[in-house]
This record gives sequence, structure tokens and C-alpha cells, in this order.
Amino acid sequence: MNGLYDRESRSVSTLAHLRFFPQAVTGGKGSLLRGDDGRDLLDFAASWGAASLGHGHPALAEAVNRALTDQAGASYLSTANEPCVLLAEKLLSIVPERAAGRVWFGHSGSDANETVARAVVTATGRKRILSFKGAYHGGTVGSVAISGHPAQGGIDKASGLSLVPYPDAYAAGSPEAAASAALAHLEELFATTVPPEEVAAFFIEPIQSDGGMLVPPPGYFREIQALCRKHGILLVCDEVKVGLGRTGRLHAFEHSDIEPDIIVFGKGLGGGLPISAAVGPEAIMNHASAFSFQTLHGNPVCAAAGLAVLDTIERENLVANAARVGDTMLTALRDLQAKHELIGNVRGHGLALGVELVSDRNARTPAIEQTALVVYRAFQLGLVIYYVGINSNVLEFTPPLTMSEEEALRGIAILDQALGDVEAGRV
Ligand code: PLP
Repeated sequence: MNGLYDRESRSVSTLAHLRFFPQAVTGGKGSLLRGDDGRDLLDFAASWGAASLGHGHPALAEAVNRALTDQAGASYLSTANEPCVLLAEKLLSIVPERAAGRVWFGHSGSDANETVARAVVTATGRKRILSFKGAYHGGTVGSVAISGHPAQGGIDKASGLSLVPYPDAYAAGSPEAAASAALAHLEELFATTVPPEEVAAFFIEPIQSDGGMLVPPPGYFREIQALCRKHGILLVCDEVKVGLGRTGRLHAFEHSDIEPDIIVFGKGLGGGLPISAAVGPEAIMNHASAFSFQTLHGNPVCAAAGLAVLDTIERENLVANAARVGDTMLTALRDLQAKHELIGNVRGHGLALGVELVSDRNARTPAIEQTALVVYRAFQLGLVIYYVGINSNVLEFTPPLTMSEEEALRGIAILDQALGDVEAGRV
């Protein structure tokens, strides 16, 4: 749908990367972004979930300004800095005990996942890694190598990587059918081509977000965890997009009642500043810090941002807000589903929601072009949404955790209109 971008392109046409909207933003406040034409846009995307506190949150601005003013070094590679130590302590206090060993800091979800992949292989001496078809763990060579998203293209996967299907309840017809088919596939793999004792780690997304906001069936990840424990495989949970309150629980893996060995945080941790963290047992994470360091890793400004985000999430009860506003959105989206033939499925937890659009409900045919049109029409009407999925037919909602119910319902009213306009061929 690249042609869409040309309709109204102005100065932004000089940018190499313009994924959805022909518009630059000039500012933002809370859940609103200000377009360069002076329009306010309601933000249901929060920059892929990174702007967890919304735009221009005073607590984040103050913490970052203070860290810049009192700057204590620029890196944590040879000398620790205070914000970094405090953030590491904070992260260790919020993860399950089995993961509460050491913290490694990076700039992005990509470098954190890549680092963990290198660390688990080095630490265990096992050469294989398991991950999911449709998984997105990042955009660097090493993180692409452990991902399974078809849009990533370009490089060969890691030679030791095996991809297994992520259970898709909607495609399979029921959560039970999806879970048993996915587990049978994994057991078959273990019995044939992938000896489990050669697998170092299984990288999971607690909700497969870029793959289509797929919510795992109840009990599925408990089974995966049991298999991992049985075979000594480390369970690595990528909470980069949906962690830290977004799903209405502090950690998204809590919905699956599991305790990962290693947890990767990113995006929302910095509230818009570049910081990621991997937290796991000392014996593994020591390998990460031995070989994976970039000059500005663990810099005090980004660490101060991370502390401010975690503090604000607690102080403003944002986990509860995400649960409450998310429930309101889910109900309103289910009402839209009854009204719009295009909506095949609505799913998610808290403020990590997906709406799968289909051109034929019985056949579940992905409505690829209509999805791009709905996104574009919503943008024209003042709502920012992105789409995801291996077929690019899932509307993704990852608004700021600070979003109010009134804003959420206002956005859904815009979506209602956008869907109606696309269905009626008015776009
Ligand atoms: N992991 C998940 C689950 C993601 O959704 C993403 C980005 O979309 C990443 C990792 C990569 O994070 P980053 O873009 O910060 O490198």
C-alpha cells in the first residue's frame, strides 16, 4: 500500500523510512500527538508501545533533565553510575527469584535479545535455539537470526535455530486445538530433528505481538515451561513490547502463570528513551557482560528514564489503569465486531490488543488491503493505529498506559467510522 503514502506527502517525503503516515509530528501531550498541520492525533500506538507514559510526561522529563545536569559519567562499562545501579536493583526486585541474578543493559530490544542468545549458547555449550514462527525479537543481525517473522528477510537464520508454530486460536478454531497442534509439533521436533539436550534456550513472546497480537491458549506456556525444565532448556521471555504493565499485569508472562529464567525488557522501560535490560541468572548473564558492550550501554540518562518510568507506573497505578481501560476497549471492540463484517477476531490483554480483519469470516481470509485503508482512514480522522501480523491484517493497539477511558472510547468511535467508510468503499 505504498501508494497511500504519496497522497499527502509533504516534507516528510525526504525520509527513507515512512511506514504508515505522511506526516511528521511536532509535539505531544499525554495520549495526543500534534501533527505538523496543527491537528491533534489520538495515539493508539505509542510508538510501538515505547511511549509507555504517553507524551511529555513531567516525571520523565524531570528525571532526564536532572540526569543530564548532574551527569555521572556516560557509560557503565568500567564505572557504574548511580541511576544504573538503582535501576538494576529495581529490576531485580520485580522479577521472579529464579531470574533475579544479574542485569545487563542495552539500547534496544534487538541488542538485548541478541546478547541473551549469545550468552545462553556460550554459557551452556549447547548450540541450538528454539523460537516461534512469526516471532519478532529485533532488527539486528543476531536478533533477526533468532526471529521468525516473514517480513524480516535478508539474512540466513542462525544455523542452530528451529522455529515452531505459535498457537493461533483464531486460525485453529479454538485455543485447545491451537495448543495441542503446537505442542505436538514441538514434541515431534524433539523426537526427530532437534535433540532437546542440544537446545540452550527457548525464546518466547508472552503475546506474539508483531506476529499478530496472538494470545497464547490457557495452559500452553505451562506445558512449554515443563518441557524446558525437563530438558534443561532456558526459558527466555521477551517482554520488550508487552511487558511492564501493558497487559494489566506487571509482567505479561503472569497471564500464563510461568516463571522464565531470563527476562528481556525494552521499549516501554525507557518511556521513549533508548534502554533495554536483560535479567537472568548470574552464570548466564556474566557471559553477556563479558562480550556484549557498547560505549553508551547503561548510560545514566537512559537509566534515570527507566527508573522514572517504573516509579511512575507504581505511583500512578498504571498497571491497574491498563487493566481497566483495556477491559473497556475489549468490550467496545467486541461490540464493533458485531457491527462490522470486516472484524474477524478481537483479542489481547490490557492495553495490548489486536483486531484481525478478514474479507470472509468463514474462510478467515486476511483483509490485507482493507487493513491498510482502515489505518489510513483512521489517521485522516485523527487516530494513530499501526497494523501487524504475518499477513499485515491485524490492527494493533498499544496506547500509552496513562490513557483514560474517555480517550479510549473516543478512539474506538473513530475506528468505528473508519471501518464503516472502508466497508462502504468511501476510502
Ligand atoms: N522484541 C519484541 C517482542 C518486539 O516487539 C521488538 C520490536 O518491535 C523487539 C524485540 C525489538 O526491539 P527494538 O525495536 O527496541 O530493537
